[in-house]
Amino acid sequence: MSEFNPYAPPRADVSFGRTPAGDDAGVWKCGKLLVMTKDAALPDRCVRCNQPADGLRLRRNLSWHPAAWFLLLAMSPLLYIIVALIVRKTAKIEVGLCEEHRARRRRAITMGWLVSLAGIALMLGLGVAVPDQYTGMGILIGVVILFIGILYGVIGAQVTPPKRIDKRFVWLSRVSPDYLAQLPAWG
Ligand SMILES: [Zn+2]
Repeated sequence: MSEFNPYAPPRADVSFGRTPAGDDAGVWKCGKLLVMTKDAALPDRCVRCNQPADGLRLRRNLSWHPAAWFLLLAMSPLLYIIVALIVRKTAKIEVGLCEEHRARRRRAITMGWLVSLAGIALMLGLGVAVPDQYTGMGILIGVVILFIGILYGVIGAQVTPPKRIDKRFVWLSRVSPDYLAQLPAWG
């Protein structure tokens, strides 16, 4: 443990490797992925474009499990949800995100909601307003639009989807190459 030193240089933007969180905390690049210990502090830069984040941070509650578990979805969605909750690994991190990328994320979430609501409206509207022979097809189209909306919103809300999480480390995707270029290589 090091003592607090008021004359030490500011660490906000330079502490890529070691961070005050712990002696073994760190952030690295591994190919196109960012690897970090769960308690590491990320640089004050936007993870999507590497511009200064000016202290703007987004808290992400990440969750991940091996892709093979998705096969359970074909058997039973309920069984999948139960198993996924048991086998998943989680991490709480904060990423820097500039104003523009925050706005883009908000727009994607809003768009996802609007499309989903349009899908629901179509299902309900076609269920009562059109002749019987079109009702089934209309509801089906409504369901498809609803799922497209949900998918669009969920993907748009993701900033750096985890590629893997274990007990100590988190592997993040969709990080700007310029941002990654400033990190030490993962040994
Ligand atoms: Zn940005």
